[in-house]
Amino acid sequence: MRLMLIGIAVSCCVIGSDAQLKCEKSPFGKVGDKNVYLYTLTNKNGIVLKVTNYGGIVTSLMLPDRKGAMGDVTLGYNDVDSYVKNTPYFGAIIGRYGNRIGKGKFTLDGKEYTLQVNNGQNTLHGGIKGFDKVVWDAKEVKSKGAAGVEFTYISKDGEEGYPGTLQAKVVYWLTDDNTWKIEYTATTDKPTVVNLTNHAYWNLAGAGSDILGHELTIYADKYTPVDEGLIPTGVLPSVEGTPMDFRKSTAIGARINQDFEQLIFGKGYDHNWVLNQKKPGEMSLAATLYDPKSGRVVEISTQEPSIQFYSGNFLDGTITGKNGTVYKHRTGLCLETQHFPDSPNKANFPSTVLKPGETYKTVTVHKFSVK
Ligand code: BGC
Repeated sequence: MRLMLIGIAVSCCVIGSDAQLKCEKSPFGKVGDKNVYLYTLTNKNGIVLKVTNYGGIVTSLMLPDRKGAMGDVTLGYNDVDSYVKNTPYFGAIIGRYGNRIGKGKFTLDGKEYTLQVNNGQNTLHGGIKGFDKVVWDAKEVKSKGAAGVEFTYISKDGEEGYPGTLQAKVVYWLTDDNTWKIEYTATTDKPTVVNLTNHAYWNLAGAGSDILGHELTIYADKYTPVDEGLIPTGVLPSVEGTPMDFRKSTAIGARINQDFEQLIFGKGYDHNWVLNQKKPGEMSLAATLYDPKSGRVVEISTQEPSIQFYSGNFLDGTITGKNGTVYKHRTGLCLETQHFPDSPNKANFPSTVLKPGETYKTVTVHKFSVK
């Protein structure tokens, strides 16, 4: 399977072969008194990735289908004001802590910290004003075969309740070998917790239709069951024999409505899978998403220990996105590489603590191809 995908990635290089690796910057409006920009990254094969420094949001990603026709495979808006008004984290950088922290509290070195609570009793995706809602400093960067944008943000000591001044850096690279690579780095001046991710909503068929026909592989033998507030219970059962078993490529819709945990709110998958990593921090395959209709494939590798698969359960048709498309239930899905939710309160989960003098460093790569 892997070899086949690599072969196909090469053949997709013919598409848009007159394109050139580049990054173009244009105005994208204002948020408060800050100017925001849209950066358009194009690779030599004609793949186009658009990102803004408001929330580090990926606003669009144009990929060829198996016939070479380009399509936008991510959900979002055309203008920055819509992102400011109402977004379920479309395409954004998530921080300081991706996913949930139970009751918005954790204890570090004997001191209890209280966070902004924004999801029932819990803190979700950093709090009320997470990294998805701030204007990042941005600059264009270049490397051999890659064009990128480097985002930096200094999160103040106490912001949203988290201790320590966090200097965060996220670099998005579009490469000529058809990848979108994300490099996350952070340092702190006091012990804190950190768990950064990206919240792209994928629909490889192009927005509009549901994602139930997409086929998904998650390279994980275990997952983290959750309680009714979507906080992990702390145990790590096997996926074997359950609708959580995506070790073989399976249509998302095949078991989504079966009577199991993914229907905890009657809506679909919203869980964390524990990746089969050989060594902590080692780059490994996390998930492969394939849309049989268009032939588009996204293969995700990461250094993170886990991945959240969210099947767009809370999309309910109330948001009209790019080009007038109404985003209905399950019309986009997220695959968020991360540390486990609520790790600050779970001693048996891999640690998310960052101390002064250490550097948080993690990479996730999305590889695009067709089959
Ligand atoms: C979470 C969902 C949440 C969604 C917000 C996902 O990462 O797991 O529970 O509703 O983000 O859009």
